[in-house]
Amino acid sequence: MSTVTRFAPSPNGPLHLGHAYSAVVAHDLAREAGGTFLIRIEDIDGARSRPEWIAEHLADLAWLGIESDRPVVRQSERLATYDAALERLKADGLLYPCRCTRAEIAAAAREEGPEGPVYPGTCKGREIPSDRPWAWRLDMDAAIERAGELDWEDALAGTIVARPVRFGDVVLARKDAPASYHLAATLDDAAQGVTLVTRGADLFDATDIHRLLQELLGLPVPRWHHHALLVEEDGRKLAKRRGSGEEGFGLADRRRAGEDGQTVAAALRAGHFPAGITLSQSLSGAP
Ligand code: GLU
Repeated sequence: MSTVTRFAPSPNGPLHLGHAYSAVVAHDLAREAGGTFLIRIEDIDGARSRPEWIAEHLADLAWLGIESDRPVVRQSERLATYDAALERLKADGLLYPCRCTRAEIAAAAREEGPEGPVYPGTCKGREIPSDRPWAWRLDMDAAIERAGELDWEDALAGTIVARPVRFGDVVLARKDAPASYHLAATLDDAAQGVTLVTRGADLFDATDIHRLLQELLGLPVPRWHHHALLVEEDGRKLAKRRGSGEEGFGLADRRRAGEDGQTVAAALRAGHFPAGITLSQSLSGAP
């Protein structure tokens, strides 16, 4: 089977060198395998997504010498697919509506999971009045019972036993976003025939959820390649704020200043990073 990789930016701010590194890794893995490289725009985070960033991101990538081998897919064009998957999970009795606020969850939560406080299950089994918007949560216990033991393959880390239970009843759709990142990205990778999901190590843990969703929805199971991240001296990954301003890590700023993008990409390939920036598999701060 031919290798298909992808780079999937969220148009909610400027791209910086960390994104460039991720795009280069995904692009080169496809090229080395004689496979296909795709760009996907993850633009359904309604509150933060801005259409004007899409053109900027594509221009930044082209400047680096990175283009999609097939037309760029936008998640905002695929809402019907996400909806169908949600309906299927509802019909299987695996979702329940929740109308808790962030503050209510923080106050009631008893455990911390990889993505913050684990939802304490307040709304599970409750009648929810239909006049208020809600989120749809995955009933994690029921989902795990349905799916059984799961593992997945990472090109660098080997076989990983999935432990999605750590995340609790994750949100799969919210009132302000028609599908969560977890659901949309999993469905898109399957629909686009991605065989090697290439992304930063900050999303390593989230793969447990994606593997579970694949099982519940009968999707093909790819392999993953979670690459090391560019981190600052304190061990934290480059923040989005690093995409602009005087630090000089923003791709659009460098592009407009007339720098040569192919040279920037070549430096990343060679492992030459600006002073104070290194590669790390593990993070000291939250992603
Ligand atoms: N859209 C995500 C981001 O910009 C990447 C998701 C993924 O590669 O699975 O962080």
